Amino acid sequence: MDFTFNSFPYRVIFAHGALNRVADEAALIGKRALILSTPEQASAGRNVFALLGPLAGGLFDRATMHVPVSIVEEALVAAKEIGADFTVAIGGGSTTGLAKALSLRAGLPSLVIPTTYAGSEVTPIWGMTEDGIKTTGRDAGVVPRTVIYDPDLTRSLPLGMTVASGLNAIAHCMEGLYAVDGNPIVSMMAEEGIRSLYESLPRLAEDGGDDEARTQALYGCWLAGMVLGSASVALHHKLCHTLGGRFDMPHAETHTAILPHAIAYNAPAAPDAMVRASRAMGGREPPAALYELASKLGAEMSLAKLGMPEEGIEIAAKLAIQNPYPNPRPVTEDGIRALLARAYTGAMPQSAELEPA
Ligand code: NAD
Repeated sequence: MDFTFNSFPYRVIFAHGALNRVADEAALIGKRALILSTPEQASAGRNVFALLGPLAGGLFDRATMHVPVSIVEEALVAAKEIGADFTVAIGGGSTTGLAKALSLRAGLPSLVIPTTYAGSEVTPIWGMTEDGIKTTGRDAGVVPRTVIYDPDLTRSLPLGMTVASGLNAIAHCMEGLYAVDGNPIVSMMAEEGIRSLYESLPRLAEDGGDDEARTQALYGCWLAGMVLGSASVALHHKLCHTLGGRFDMPHAETHTAILPHAIAYNAPAAPDAMVRASRAMGGREPPAALYELASKLGAEMSLAKLGMPEEGIEIAAKLAIQNPYPNPRPVTEDGIRALLARAYTGAMPQSAELEPA
């Protein structure tokens, strides 16, 4: 064996009702907190304010998708006004993203309480948007000091978001299995992450109040976040970033529609990854299993219906081969065109049509 494994020194509290421990955990980080939330989750922010008692300095409830620089600057002013020495973020990837931006810009450590399956809370990846341009980077300093996972907080997630966000997490795990810088630890987390999500998502679709399934799904998403934070992504993420940026398509839903096709493309060149993924999905062929899971849970599988114009196939095939991410199978324009043509209509993935690399 010969590998490099990056890990980050954050603390995780994982339990039903763990939110009630927020004051004890916050006291380990600082003395005065700026609480962060979106406008939609302001009441969750107020609840954290109450739980923090004397540690609560203020609530900034204007966290926004894609972390606009203007919002980061407003939050910096709010932090300064109250003399905050750390932040407590409650919400999804957008709120976590704001906490990370404040760590990057002002060195404020954070305690993050995730309420979606995005996984951003355990990655060193940050992003900020200005004039429509998103800048991203990696910096170990943006990783939260503490993450509180409380499955009770995901109960209010609508089913559509649960499914898309969960499939997005499976995508992180799938690509971790064949990442150029993958290793046995990442593979172990990725396989367990896929297994947890593959089992729990159908149960949540049946019964959103199934607490055991909520716990299993959140656990799987933590693992997926760790995989994303520790290993590189490949063709699947490249296609999603290309399409999302070019055609302003919904993030997690685009991941869901492309994943079975990207995996079908890479399967012939990543046999070990497919063995692990299959083992995590009841022995099924990964591309078909992913397609069936997503469609059974009501996900939209057609890129056309998600807003991609037909000429997008040609444009994205050309864009995807420019500066490709490292990928187990060589990325060819014809191969990507065929892959996207199937995803465009929402057809089943067909790995057999592709010549092995
Ligand atoms: P989000 O944070 O944008 O939340 C979407 C909406 O759902 C918001 O209005 C939010 O308040 C609401 N919401 C959140 N939790 C809820 C709950 N439990 N019940 C009801 N409503 C709830 O969505 P997201 O999918 O968590 O995050 C997406 C963003 O995160 C994207 O911008 C993506 O790029 C980023 N992201 C970053 C990383 C990283 O490592 N940096 C990883 C994954 C995602």
